[in-house]
Amino acid sequence: MPRVSLGERVLALRAQREAAHRRRRSRTVARRDGVRCEVDGRELLNFCSNDYLGLAQHPRMIAALRDAAGEGAGSTASHLVCGHGAQHAALETELADWLQAPRALLFGSGYMANLAVVQALLGDGDACVQDKLNHASLIDAARLAGCAHKRYPHADADAAGRQLASHADGAALLASDGVFSMDGDVAPLRALARIAREGQATLYVDDAHAVGVMGNAGRGSIDAAGLDGNDVPLRLVTFGKALGSAGAAVIGDADLIAHLAETARPYIYTTALPPAQAAATREAVRIAREGDDLRERLHANIDRLKSGARARGLRLMASETPIQPLLVGDDANALAMAAALEASGYWVAAIRPPTVPEGGARLRIALSAAHDARQIDALLDALSRARDVVMA
Ligand SMILES: *Cc1c(COP(=O)(O)O)cnc(C)c1O
Repeated sequence: MPRVSLGERVLALRAQREAAHRRRRSRTVARRDGVRCEVDGRELLNFCSNDYLGLAQHPRMIAALRDAAGEGAGSTASHLVCGHGAQHAALETELADWLQAPRALLFGSGYMANLAVVQALLGDGDACVQDKLNHASLIDAARLAGCAHKRYPHADADAAGRQLASHADGAALLASDGVFSMDGDVAPLRALARIAREGQATLYVDDAHAVGVMGNAGRGSIDAAGLDGNDVPLRLVTFGKALGSAGAAVIGDADLIAHLAETARPYIYTTALPPAQAAATREAVRIAREGDDLRERLHANIDRLKSGARARGLRLMASETPIQPLLVGDDANALAMAAALEASGYWVAAIRPPTVPEGGARLRIALSAAHDARQIDALLDALSRARDVVMA
Protein backbone atom coordinates (compact mmCIF):
# COMPACT_ATOMS: atom_id res chain seq x y z
CA MET A 1 0.00 0.00 0.00
CA PRO A 2 1.43 3.42 -0.93
CA ARG A 3 2.20 5.97 1.77
CA VAL A 4 -0.88 8.05 2.71
CA SER A 5 -0.57 11.77 3.31
CA LEU A 6 -2.02 12.68 6.71
CA GLY A 7 -2.63 16.23 5.50
CA GLU A 8 -4.82 14.98 2.64
CA ARG A 9 -6.53 12.41 4.83
CA VAL A 10 -7.66 14.90 7.48
CA LEU A 11 -9.03 17.25 4.82
CA ALA A 12 -11.02 14.42 3.23
CA LEU A 13 -12.38 13.30 6.61
CA ARG A 14 -13.33 16.89 7.46
CA ALA A 15 -15.25 17.20 4.19
CA GLN A 16 -17.09 13.97 5.04
CA ARG A 17 -18.04 15.28 8.48
CA GLU A 18 -19.18 18.55 6.94
CA ALA A 19 -21.48 16.73 4.50
CA ALA A 20 -22.90 14.58 7.31
CA HIS A 21 -23.55 17.56 9.66
CA ARG A 22 -20.93 16.12 12.03
CA ARG A 23 -18.46 18.98 12.42
CA ARG A 24 -17.69 19.84 16.06
CA ARG A 25 -16.65 23.29 17.20
CA SER A 26 -16.02 24.72 20.64
CA ARG A 27 -17.60 28.07 21.46
CA THR A 28 -15.73 30.59 23.57
CA VAL A 29 -17.55 31.66 26.70
CA ALA A 30 -16.40 35.26 27.15
CA ARG A 31 -18.10 35.67 30.52
CA ARG A 32 -19.94 33.30 32.81
CA ASP A 33 -22.25 34.26 35.65
CA GLY A 34 -24.06 31.17 36.89
CA VAL A 35 -26.47 30.01 34.17
CA ARG A 36 -25.95 33.22 32.15
CA CYS A 37 -23.06 33.37 29.77
CA GLU A 38 -21.81 35.55 26.97
CA VAL A 39 -20.98 33.84 23.67
CA ASP A 40 -20.15 35.72 20.44
CA GLY A 41 -21.24 38.97 22.04
CA ARG A 42 -24.70 37.68 23.07
CA GLU A 43 -26.07 36.65 26.42
CA LEU A 44 -27.34 33.05 26.48
CA LEU A 45 -29.09 31.08 29.22
CA ASN A 46 -27.07 27.94 29.66
CA PHE A 47 -28.92 24.61 29.53
CA CYS A 48 -25.94 22.43 28.63
CA SER A 49 -23.54 22.53 31.56
CA ASN A 50 -23.06 19.70 34.06
CA ASP A 51 -22.90 22.15 36.99
CA TYR A 52 -26.05 20.55 38.41
CA LEU A 53 -25.86 22.19 41.84
CA GLY A 54 -24.53 25.53 40.61
CA LEU A 55 -21.26 25.14 42.54
CA ALA A 56 -18.66 26.14 39.92
CA GLN A 57 -18.88 29.83 40.90
CA HIS A 58 -20.27 29.35 44.42
CA PRO A 59 -18.77 32.01 46.73
CA ARG A 60 -17.56 29.31 49.14
CA MET A 61 -15.75 27.49 46.32
CA ILE A 62 -14.08 30.67 45.12
CA ALA A 63 -13.08 31.52 48.70
CA ALA A 64 -11.59 28.01 49.11
CA LEU A 65 -9.55 28.44 45.91
CA ARG A 66 -8.36 31.86 47.05
CA ASP A 67 -7.47 30.67 50.57
CA ALA A 68 -5.36 27.85 49.12
CA ALA A 69 -3.79 29.99 46.39
CA GLY A 70 -0.66 30.45 48.49
CA GLU A 71 0.05 26.73 48.13
CA GLY A 72 0.86 27.40 44.50
CA ALA A 73 -0.57 26.89 41.04
CA GLY A 74 0.80 23.38 40.65
CA SER A 75 1.48 20.24 42.67
CA THR A 76 5.05 19.98 41.19
CA ALA A 77 5.00 16.19 40.58
CA SER A 78 2.99 12.99 40.45
CA HIS A 79 1.46 11.65 43.69
CA LEU A 80 4.13 8.95 44.13
CA VAL A 81 7.04 11.35 43.69
CA CYS A 82 6.30 14.48 45.76
CA GLY A 83 3.03 15.92 44.43
CA HIS A 84 0.73 14.44 47.10
CA GLY A 85 0.02 17.24 49.57
CA ALA A 86 -2.13 17.80 52.64
CA GLN A 87 -5.07 19.03 50.53
CA HIS A 88 -5.03 15.83 48.46
CA ALA A 89 -4.79 13.61 51.54
CA ALA A 90 -7.63 15.46 53.29
CA LEU A 91 -9.82 15.32 50.17
CA GLU A 92 -9.33 11.54 49.92
CA THR A 93 -10.25 11.08 53.58
CA GLU A 94 -13.31 13.31 53.29
CA LEU A 95 -14.55 11.59 50.11
CA ALA A 96 -14.24 8.15 51.71
CA ASP A 97 -16.10 9.42 54.78
CA TRP A 98 -18.90 11.01 52.72
CA LEU A 99 -19.39 7.96 50.50
CA GLN A 100 -18.96 5.47 53.37
CA ALA A 101 -16.15 3.53 51.71
CA PRO A 102 -12.75 2.40 53.00
CA ARG A 103 -10.58 4.45 50.65
CA ALA A 104 -10.48 7.07 47.89
CA LEU A 105 -7.74 7.72 45.31
CA LEU A 106 -7.50 10.96 43.32
CA PHE A 107 -7.06 11.19 39.55
CA GLY A 108 -6.51 14.07 37.15
CA SER A 109 -9.84 13.37 35.43
CA GLY A 110 -12.63 10.83 35.22
CA TYR A 111 -11.36 9.77 31.83
CA MET A 112 -7.97 8.83 33.29
CA ALA A 113 -9.55 7.16 36.31
CA ASN A 114 -11.59 4.83 34.11
CA LEU A 115 -8.51 3.93 32.04
CA ALA A 116 -6.69 3.24 35.31
CA VAL A 117 -9.30 0.95 36.84
CA VAL A 118 -9.71 -1.35 33.87
CA GLN A 119 -6.04 -1.38 32.88
CA ALA A 120 -4.70 -2.01 36.39
CA LEU A 121 -7.20 -4.72 37.27
CA LEU A 122 -7.71 -6.62 33.99
CA GLY A 123 -5.48 -8.08 31.30
CA ASP A 124 -5.17 -10.98 28.93
CA GLY A 125 -7.66 -13.74 29.85
CA ASP A 126 -9.95 -11.42 31.85
CA ALA A 127 -13.24 -9.81 30.80
CA CYS A 128 -14.78 -6.38 30.99
CA VAL A 129 -18.56 -6.64 30.55
CA GLN A 130 -20.27 -3.30 30.09
CA ASP A 131 -23.39 -1.45 28.99
CA LYS A 132 -23.35 -0.38 25.32
CA LEU A 133 -24.15 3.19 26.34
CA ASN A 134 -21.38 3.53 28.94
CA HIS A 135 -19.22 6.64 28.74
CA ALA A 136 -16.54 6.65 26.03
CA SER A 137 -13.80 6.53 28.67
CA LEU A 138 -15.00 3.11 29.88
CA ILE A 139 -15.22 1.80 26.33
CA ASP A 140 -11.69 3.07 25.61
CA ALA A 141 -10.49 1.63 28.92
CA ALA A 142 -11.56 -1.89 27.96
CA ARG A 143 -10.09 -1.53 24.46
CA LEU A 144 -6.72 -0.51 25.90
CA ALA A 145 -6.59 -3.04 28.73
CA GLY A 146 -6.04 -6.07 26.50
CA CYS A 147 -8.92 -8.00 28.13
CA ALA A 148 -11.98 -9.50 26.43
CA HIS A 149 -14.48 -6.67 25.89
CA LYS A 150 -18.18 -7.59 25.96
CA ARG A 151 -20.92 -5.00 25.57
CA TYR A 152 -24.51 -5.79 26.48
CA PRO A 153 -27.67 -4.02 25.21
CA HIS A 154 -28.50 -0.91 27.22
CA ALA A 155 -29.71 -1.58 30.77
CA ASP A 156 -30.20 -5.32 30.08
CA ALA A 157 -28.93 -7.00 33.26
CA ASP A 158 -29.86 -10.49 32.04
CA ALA A 159 -27.77 -9.97 28.92
CA ALA A 160 -24.92 -8.86 31.20
CA GLY A 161 -25.31 -12.14 33.05
CA ARG A 162 -25.10 -14.11 29.81
CA GLN A 163 -21.96 -12.20 28.80
CA LEU A 164 -20.36 -13.02 32.15
CA ALA A 165 -21.35 -16.68 31.84
CA SER A 166 -19.84 -16.86 28.34
CA HIS A 167 -16.50 -15.79 29.79
CA ALA A 168 -16.26 -17.84 32.96
CA ASP A 169 -12.43 -17.91 33.20
CA GLY A 170 -10.20 -15.21 34.55
CA ALA A 171 -11.27 -12.12 36.47
CA ALA A 172 -14.27 -10.03 35.41
CA LEU A 173 -15.39 -6.47 35.89
CA LEU A 174 -19.05 -5.59 35.30
CA ALA A 175 -19.05 -1.86 34.55
CA SER A 176 -21.98 0.52 34.22
CA ASP A 177 -22.62 4.23 34.36
CA GLY A 178 -24.90 4.99 37.33
CA VAL A 179 -26.73 7.64 35.31
CA PHE A 180 -26.20 7.55 31.54
CA SER A 181 -24.68 10.79 30.32
CA MET A 182 -26.61 11.26 27.07
CA ASP A 183 -29.91 9.59 28.09
CA GLY A 184 -30.27 10.58 31.74
CA ASP A 185 -31.71 7.22 32.79
CA VAL A 186 -30.50 5.29 35.84
CA ALA A 187 -28.81 1.86 35.53
CA PRO A 188 -30.63 -1.20 36.94
CA LEU A 189 -28.08 -1.36 39.75
CA ARG A 190 -29.87 -3.84 42.01
CA ALA A 191 -30.14 -6.35 39.17
CA LEU A 192 -26.53 -5.71 38.12
CA ALA A 193 -25.37 -6.26 41.72
CA ARG A 194 -27.15 -9.64 41.77
CA ILE A 195 -25.72 -10.61 38.37
CA ALA A 196 -22.21 -9.62 39.47
CA ARG A 197 -22.54 -11.67 42.66
CA GLU A 198 -23.81 -14.72 40.75
CA GLY A 199 -21.11 -14.36 38.10
CA GLN A 200 -18.34 -13.71 40.66
CA ALA A 201 -17.54 -10.42 38.96
CA THR A 202 -16.66 -7.07 40.54
CA LEU A 203 -19.29 -4.38 39.93
CA TYR A 204 -17.83 -0.98 39.00
CA VAL A 205 -20.19 2.00 38.80
CA ASP A 206 -19.22 5.24 37.04
CA ASP A 207 -21.26 7.71 39.11
CA ALA A 208 -20.14 10.90 37.33
CA HIS A 209 -23.70 12.21 36.91
CA ALA A 210 -25.28 11.00 40.15
CA VAL A 211 -22.97 12.00 42.99
CA GLY A 212 -24.24 15.22 44.56
CA VAL A 213 -27.56 14.79 42.75
CA MET A 214 -29.12 11.52 44.01
CA GLY A 215 -29.19 9.48 47.22
CA ASN A 216 -29.00 10.44 50.89
CA ALA A 217 -26.65 13.40 51.39
CA GLY A 218 -26.01 13.30 47.64
CA ARG A 219 -24.16 9.97 47.86
CA GLY A 220 -25.25 9.00 44.35
CA SER A 221 -26.99 6.22 42.48
CA ILE A 222 -25.63 3.37 44.62
CA ASP A 223 -27.13 4.82 47.80
CA ALA A 224 -30.35 5.70 45.93
CA ALA A 225 -30.67 2.02 44.91
CA GLY A 226 -30.26 0.90 48.52
CA LEU A 227 -26.85 -0.64 47.80
CA ASP A 228 -23.46 -0.14 49.43
CA GLY A 229 -19.78 -0.98 49.13
CA ASN A 230 -20.43 -4.70 49.54
CA ASP A 231 -22.47 -4.67 46.33
CA VAL A 232 -20.30 -2.13 44.50
CA PRO A 233 -16.65 -2.53 45.54
CA LEU A 234 -15.47 0.29 43.25
CA ARG A 235 -17.07 3.48 41.98
CA LEU A 236 -15.97 6.57 40.08
CA VAL A 237 -16.76 10.06 41.31
CA THR A 238 -15.91 12.98 39.04
CA PHE A 239 -15.44 16.50 40.36
CA GLY A 240 -16.27 18.36 37.14
CA LYS A 241 -20.03 17.78 37.22
CA ALA A 242 -22.23 18.37 40.30
CA LEU A 243 -19.17 19.26 42.38
CA GLY A 244 -18.35 22.19 40.08
CA SER A 245 -14.59 21.56 40.23
CA ALA A 246 -12.18 19.35 38.24
CA GLY A 247 -10.57 15.95 38.74
CA ALA A 248 -11.94 12.60 39.90
CA ALA A 249 -11.58 9.82 42.46
CA VAL A 250 -12.00 6.07 42.52
CA ILE A 251 -13.61 5.04 45.79
CA GLY A 252 -14.07 1.67 47.43
CA ASP A 253 -12.28 -1.47 48.55
CA ALA A 254 -8.94 -0.68 50.21
CA ASP A 255 -6.94 -3.51 48.61
CA LEU A 256 -8.24 -2.87 45.08
CA ILE A 257 -7.46 0.82 45.47
CA ALA A 258 -4.02 0.15 46.92
CA HIS A 259 -3.30 -1.86 43.77
CA LEU A 260 -4.37 1.06 41.55
CA ALA A 261 -2.16 3.43 43.55
CA GLU A 262 0.93 1.31 42.89
CA THR A 263 0.31 0.03 39.38
CA ALA A 264 -2.17 2.13 37.37
CA ARG A 265 -0.27 4.00 34.67
CA PRO A 266 -2.79 6.90 34.47
CA TYR A 267 -2.16 7.40 38.20
CA ILE A 268 1.61 7.02 38.23
CA TYR A 269 2.69 8.90 35.10
CA THR A 270 0.86 12.18 35.53
CA THR A 271 1.07 15.28 37.70
CA ALA A 272 -1.21 15.47 40.75
CA LEU A 273 -4.03 18.05 40.68
CA PRO A 274 -3.09 21.54 41.85
CA PRO A 275 -3.50 21.79 45.65
CA ALA A 276 -5.95 24.72 45.43
CA GLN A 277 -8.14 22.63 43.10
CA ALA A 278 -8.23 19.91 45.75
CA ALA A 279 -9.10 22.55 48.37
CA ALA A 280 -12.02 23.78 46.25
CA THR A 281 -13.22 20.20 45.79
CA ARG A 282 -13.11 19.69 49.57
CA GLU A 283 -15.44 22.67 49.92
CA ALA A 284 -17.68 21.23 47.17
CA VAL A 285 -17.94 17.97 49.12
CA ARG A 286 -19.07 19.89 52.22
CA ILE A 287 -21.66 21.88 50.24
CA ALA A 288 -22.95 18.84 48.34
CA ARG A 289 -23.16 16.74 51.49
CA GLU A 290 -25.32 19.34 53.26
CA GLY A 291 -27.04 20.36 50.02
CA ASP A 292 -30.55 18.99 50.44
CA ASP A 293 -31.91 22.47 49.66
CA LEU A 294 -29.96 22.53 46.37
CA ARG A 295 -31.17 19.04 45.48
CA GLU A 296 -34.77 20.07 46.26
CA ARG A 297 -34.47 23.07 43.94
CA LEU A 298 -32.90 20.91 41.23
CA HIS A 299 -35.64 18.29 41.46
CA ALA A 300 -38.36 20.96 41.43
CA ASN A 301 -36.77 22.23 38.20
CA ILE A 302 -36.73 18.71 36.73
CA ASP A 303 -40.44 18.26 37.60
CA ARG A 304 -41.30 21.64 36.12
CA LEU A 305 -39.51 20.90 32.82
CA LYS A 306 -41.12 17.47 32.54
CA SER A 307 -44.67 18.61 33.26
CA GLY A 308 -44.28 21.70 31.05
CA ALA A 309 -43.00 19.53 28.20
CA ARG A 310 -45.93 17.17 28.58
CA ALA A 311 -48.37 20.10 28.47
CA ARG A 312 -46.76 21.34 25.24
CA GLY A 313 -46.60 17.92 23.55
CA LEU A 314 -42.80 17.83 23.69
CA ARG A 315 -41.77 14.19 24.17
CA LEU A 316 -38.73 14.16 26.43
CA MET A 317 -36.92 10.86 26.93
CA ALA A 318 -37.75 8.96 30.14
CA SER A 319 -35.45 10.44 32.79
CA GLU A 320 -35.75 11.58 36.41
CA THR A 321 -32.31 13.19 36.45
CA PRO A 322 -31.03 16.66 35.43
CA ILE A 323 -30.23 15.20 31.99
CA GLN A 324 -33.46 15.62 30.01
CA PRO A 325 -32.93 14.76 26.33
CA LEU A 326 -35.38 15.54 23.54
CA LEU A 327 -34.86 12.93 20.83
CA VAL A 328 -34.79 14.50 17.35
CA GLY A 329 -33.30 11.66 15.27
CA ASP A 330 -31.84 13.46 12.29
CA ASP A 331 -28.50 15.26 12.74
CA ALA A 332 -29.41 18.29 10.61
CA ASN A 333 -32.71 18.75 12.46
CA ALA A 334 -30.99 18.56 15.84
CA LEU A 335 -28.53 21.25 14.72
CA ALA A 336 -31.37 23.41 13.35
CA MET A 337 -33.30 23.10 16.64
CA ALA A 338 -30.20 24.10 18.63
CA ALA A 339 -29.63 27.06 16.29
CA ALA A 340 -33.25 28.19 16.65
CA LEU A 341 -32.96 27.97 20.45
CA GLU A 342 -29.75 29.96 20.38
CA ALA A 343 -31.41 32.65 18.29
CA SER A 344 -33.98 32.93 21.13
CA GLY A 345 -31.19 33.17 23.75
CA TYR A 346 -30.98 29.53 24.98
CA TRP A 347 -27.89 27.34 24.81
CA VAL A 348 -28.76 23.64 24.48
CA ALA A 349 -26.29 21.10 23.08
CA ALA A 350 -27.20 19.11 19.95
CA ILE A 351 -25.66 15.67 20.55
CA ARG A 352 -24.98 13.64 17.41
CA PRO A 353 -23.33 10.31 16.52
CA PRO A 354 -20.85 8.90 17.34
CA THR A 355 -21.57 10.24 20.85
CA VAL A 356 -25.05 8.68 20.49
CA PRO A 357 -26.17 5.81 18.20
CA GLU A 358 -26.97 6.49 14.51
CA GLY A 359 -30.39 8.10 14.15
CA GLY A 360 -30.28 9.14 17.82
CA ALA A 361 -29.39 12.84 17.48
CA ARG A 362 -30.95 14.81 20.30
CA LEU A 363 -31.04 18.01 22.27
CA ARG A 364 -29.48 17.29 25.65
CA ILE A 365 -31.18 19.67 28.07
CA ALA A 366 -29.21 19.84 31.34
CA LEU A 367 -30.81 21.41 34.40
CA SER A 368 -29.23 23.04 37.43
CA ALA A 369 -30.37 24.13 40.86
CA ALA A 370 -29.30 27.58 39.65
CA HIS A 371 -32.13 27.78 37.08
CA ASP A 372 -35.40 29.39 38.16
CA ALA A 373 -38.98 28.54 37.21
CA ARG A 374 -39.34 31.48 34.84
CA GLN A 375 -36.23 30.43 32.90
CA ILE A 376 -37.52 26.89 32.54
CA ASP A 377 -40.93 28.06 31.31
CA ALA A 378 -39.25 30.36 28.80
CA LEU A 379 -37.04 27.50 27.55
CA LEU A 380 -40.14 25.32 27.09
CA ASP A 381 -41.81 28.04 24.99
CA ALA A 382 -38.66 28.41 22.88
CA LEU A 383 -38.48 24.62 22.44
CA SER A 384 -42.10 24.51 21.18
CA ARG A 385 -41.41 27.30 18.69
CA ALA A 386 -38.18 25.64 17.51
CA ARG A 387 -39.97 22.32 17.04
CA ASP A 388 -42.80 23.95 15.07
CA VAL A 389 -40.32 25.67 12.74
CA VAL A 390 -37.81 22.84 12.25
CA MET A 391 -40.03 19.76 12.33
CA ALA A 392 -42.91 21.31 10.32
C1 LIG B 1 -17.76 13.24 32.29
C2 LIG B 1 -17.71 11.78 32.47
C3 LIG B 1 -16.50 11.12 32.63
C4 LIG B 1 -15.18 11.82 32.49
O1 LIG B 1 -14.92 12.64 33.58
P1 LIG B 1 -13.90 13.85 33.39
O2 LIG B 1 -13.48 14.17 34.79
O3 LIG B 1 -14.68 14.94 32.74
O4 LIG B 1 -12.77 13.35 32.56
C5 LIG B 1 -16.52 9.77 32.89
N1 LIG B 1 -17.69 9.09 32.94
C6 LIG B 1 -18.88 9.70 32.75
C7 LIG B 1 -20.13 8.89 32.81
C8 LIG B 1 -18.92 11.05 32.50
O5 LIG B 1 -20.09 11.65 32.27
